[in-house]
Amino acid sequence: MYYIDVILPIPLKQTFTYQVNKDEAIFLKTGMRVAVPFGKSKIYTGIVLKVHQLAPQGYETKPIDQILDEFPIINEFQIKHWQWMASYYLCTLGEVLKAALPNGFLLESETIITLNSNVSIDYSELNDIEFLVFEALQSQPSLHINDIRSILDRKNVMGVLNNLIKKKCIAIQEEVYEKYRPKIKRFIKLSSRYTSEENLKNLLDTLKRAPKQRKVLMTLFTLSSQEKKAIESVLLQKKSNSNSAVINSLIKKEILEEYFIQKDRVEFNLDKNSEIKSLSESQTVALNEINKSFNQNDVTLLHGVTSSGKTEIYVQLIDLAIKQGRQVLYMLPEIALTTQLISRLQNYFGEKISVYHSKYSISERVEVWNNVLNNKSKAQIIIGARSSLFLPFSKLGLLIVDEEHEPSFKQYAPSPRYNARDSAVVLAKFHAAKLLMGSATPSLESFYNAINNRYGLVSLKKRFGDILMPEIELVDIKEKHRKKLMKGHFSDRLLEEINEALKNKEQIILFQNRRGYSPVIECTTCGISPQCPNCDVSLTFHQYKNQLRCHYCGYHTPKMISCIACGSETLDSKGFGTEQIELELKELFPDHQIARMDQDTMKRKNAYAKIIEALELKEIDILVGTQMLAKGLDFRHVSLVGVMNADNLLNFPDFRAHERSFQLLQQVAGRAGRTKKRGKVIIQTFNPYHQILQQVSVNNFEEMYDHQLEDRRQFKYPPFYRMIKITVKERSFRKMDIASIWLVNALKLKLNKNVLGPENPPVGRIRNLFITHILVKIPKEQSLSKTKNYINSILKSFNTIKEFSRVHLTVDVDNY
Ligand code: ADP
Ligand code: ZN
Ligand code: ZN
Repeated sequence: MYYIDVILPIPLKQTFTYQVNKDEAIFLKTGMRVAVPFGKSKIYTGIVLKVHQLAPQGYETKPIDQILDEFPIINEFQIKHWQWMASYYLCTLGEVLKAALPNGFLLESETIITLNSNVSIDYSELNDIEFLVFEALQSQPSLHINDIRSILDRKNVMGVLNNLIKKKCIAIQEEVYEKYRPKIKRFIKLSSRYTSEENLKNLLDTLKRAPKQRKVLMTLFTLSSQEKKAIESVLLQKKSNSNSAVINSLIKKEILEEYFIQKDRVEFNLDKNSEIKSLSESQTVALNEINKSFNQNDVTLLHGVTSSGKTEIYVQLIDLAIKQGRQVLYMLPEIALTTQLISRLQNYFGEKISVYHSKYSISERVEVWNNVLNNKSKAQIIIGARSSLFLPFSKLGLLIVDEEHEPSFKQYAPSPRYNARDSAVVLAKFHAAKLLMGSATPSLESFYNAINNRYGLVSLKKRFGDILMPEIELVDIKEKHRKKLMKGHFSDRLLEEINEALKNKEQIILFQNRRGYSPVIECTTCGISPQCPNCDVSLTFHQYKNQLRCHYCGYHTPKMISCIACGSETLDSKGFGTEQIELELKELFPDHQIARMDQDTMKRKNAYAKIIEALELKEIDILVGTQMLAKGLDFRHVSLVGVMNADNLLNFPDFRAHERSFQLLQQVAGRAGRTKKRGKVIIQTFNPYHQILQQVSVNNFEEMYDHQLEDRRQFKYPPFYRMIKITVKERSFRKMDIASIWLVNALKLKLNKNVLGPENPPVGRIRNLFITHILVKIPKEQSLSKTKNYINSILKSFNTIKEFSRVHLTVDVDNY
């Protein structure tokens, strides 16, 4: 008898054993997909982990349903990495699988089959069984796989369906091979007949009597000089206030030419890739140091101040790696926020770059996956957020983790709750590849690792072009309030600087880390503020939609006119968000263009790219936004950055609040004065003598690091202690309470005082589940794996207790 161990995309246990025949056993290899029955009627796609002859004890194995691949789609590197991840983050291989594979690979029994209506089908090509499916689909627009099983009266239908797909007869919706239709865009350029100045001049003369056409032409010149990329016809139309008829007539006259390009190929220069920039002296020194460091360390941290030109250094390293025929993974915290960077890299490396992004359609992701698997040159450089870590690399030579301090490298939910930066370090080791972390404000952990020689460290202290770091001024708004020098939320100092910048036609960025209008509405008569019915939080007022919204579960309701408790109509708002700042600005500066960038305004497709473009074209004077603003934007004309209120950052209840505030404020400040003139930053605060603000204002990372590290040592936090957080959730508060106390007591038997809690978090109920946390702290000298095994054994016993069967437990290793 032959068996295979299969990883299924469910969190129950590590692997499931199925039975195969000898031929199948010979054919199957680790990393191939199989469809297997599960439970009464489900079919799952799983990945073969192992083929063997060891009969499992205690249960009958079922045969598999279908083999789905001819070759493995997962390689040995990945399997090893998944196994590491499951054991390190205390989860199952199935959970890792689910995070790792694009859904397109995971055919489930829910999959819907439809007829492919765009193609005419030659029935003679279909065999009897295939025809049955085809016929069924003509009377019914779509069928589930299970329907097809009953129509054909056989359980094994994948082969039939695959053949029908090959014959283009059917389409399988969403889950598999959703057809990839590249989006096509139309572009306009000047006909090559007019490239000489002479001809051009004549042309403009002849168009004197066609002012509309002339306007289009002039706009095209302006746009081409502003942007190095191709000019889209819609953009041209918009900017020249024209219409398609005018543009078309110019094309007819052969003055303009139109051409079409796939959307995902448009970002880079069409004629040829730009030359890689030669590095400045200090960049060159840093690059040499990095290369030297790589001789001794697998991981190196590049600590380079904002706008020091880190990206250009990455570019050199990437160039070298691909010339050696290796693959490169460039990880970024949030890919949606980095359109600027992507086009910059595409300028250099053109088609060698693929972007991997969870917002891409399933088929696009499958496409990138396959390109990486087959080591295609067009996927030699991958740019992606944390999930790009899971791609089937086989020749990885270089990994870059840009903005390594960013919290979004950590996945909090669902499991695996992994940190992509740390997992990348392990991946690099498996591939014997080098890893470069980069940041202007490194995380305490990484800097600690660098200082203690676990990583190499290279610093770049000068901005590119020797531009000075922005000048940071702290403004005491308590004082300003007392002296009545505040207009709304703006101090006189901030207004002065805004006016100055506007006068000089420079742009301004204002940062407020809360969205909405105001976080709390309070009745001045009885003091009650409206709460979310599902969560223990106050609702946030959004003036624009006149709604109260919960930022935890999305619940919303129209704003009430009077207090729900006492009926009084004196409702007051407390605190403020981006919406309120935007409105105040519109009143203060009615003649200027004001825009807002936060989760609420960024929902629409391309909203982000549009704002960036508008900023670059100087169509926006003042941009208000949340931390989205801090993510590596590079603008030429921003001379002033204002922080509306630094205090709520600092007061956040988390052991990293101070470190994070420092990082965020430095990053936001870094958006000012990136070219030419020295930038100015105004930080408004009630507490200008706060240590962190003082450190921000003089750009003193090292002092911040020393102080914070001392706090961490004293209060037993990372990097001195490791942490594992167990979260207990229950509909009933009482049950949650009992369960968490049981757990704490069980854990304490061995781990004693290093078990903390249960502690109720500031928001004690979300989506109708009560929440409590248990924290396990692990000192350096204590074995991590033994501790994890112990926790696992406790959780196992917990799961056997009937009373707790409805308690949700999550385990988060390195929960910070
Ligand atoms: P960082 O990533 O460190 O914030 P960037 O790489 O974005 O800095 O560089 C800041 C600015 O300086 C960018 O506009 C970039 O194009 C420019 N720059 C950096 N290095 C060079 C170079 N060697 N030659 C020309 N321009 C450069
Ligand atoms: Zn009231
Ligand atoms: Zn809620």
